[in-house]
Amino acid sequence: MTHAVHIIPTLDDNYAYIFISGTQCVVIDPGEALPVIKQLEFLKLTPTHIFNTHHHDDHIGGNAELTSRYGARIFAPASEKNRIPNIDVGVRQGDHITLGESVFQVIETPGHTRGHICFYSRTRHVLFCGDTLFSMGCGRILEGTPDEMWQSLCKLGQLPNETDVYCGHEYTLSNGEFSLTVEPDNLALRERVETARDLRALGLPTLPTTIGQEKKTNVFLRAKDATEFAKLRAEKDTL
Ligand code: ZN
Ligand code: FE
Repeated sequence: MTHAVHIIPTLDDNYAYIFISGTQCVVIDPGEALPVIKQLEFLKLTPTHIFNTHHHDDHIGGNAELTSRYGARIFAPASEKNRIPNIDVGVRQGDHITLGESVFQVIETPGHTRGHICFYSRTRHVLFCGDTLFSMGCGRILEGTPDEMWQSLCKLGQLPNETDVYCGHEYTLSNGEFSLTVEPDNLALRERVETARDLRALGLPTLPTTIGQEKKTNVFLRAKDATEFAKLRAEKDTL
């Protein structure tokens, strides 16, 4: 049984993803339709599902075109029915979504937005986490409290180390620079920043990362408590 993930750069610095399981596929967070359609045509695939992690336009902007073109059904946070148009299946913490022979589990991660969710497959060891967790960073707290965001990051930090983490944006280098000011002596962090620089110089994505790598390099995830986390987040927000 095969599965694969394709990374599709969209807009300025967003990523949409195509996750393929057998003959089925899902598009995750299509910020715009055209680059996703091009990739689907190249792969000769018709998506049956769209997953949205949260209501921001740069994650749902391609929904309408993809649903009308392919008839894909939109799976999105149940609590965002009024902010994400035409949700087919509203999902909540613990809900399971079957795609081919893969199963995704919904993890609620409020903080960046109230209704933010992540899609996790334990058997495929993949996590699509939108704007909650970034490589060496985390999303801005736009609708929640620092405490909520901290709890959400801790939930993700409990997933297995080998989990591949697919984030909503290519923010790795700027996060890395900030992280180095916090932990200048962290060797794993310095190596990760080097590798990320090389990848970006070649025009390649720095993702996926893994939960294990983030536990070693992500200063937000490594904070000792909610207070320290809040301080770091506030500091980064002023940059
Ligand atoms: Zn967002
Ligand atoms: Fe975003």
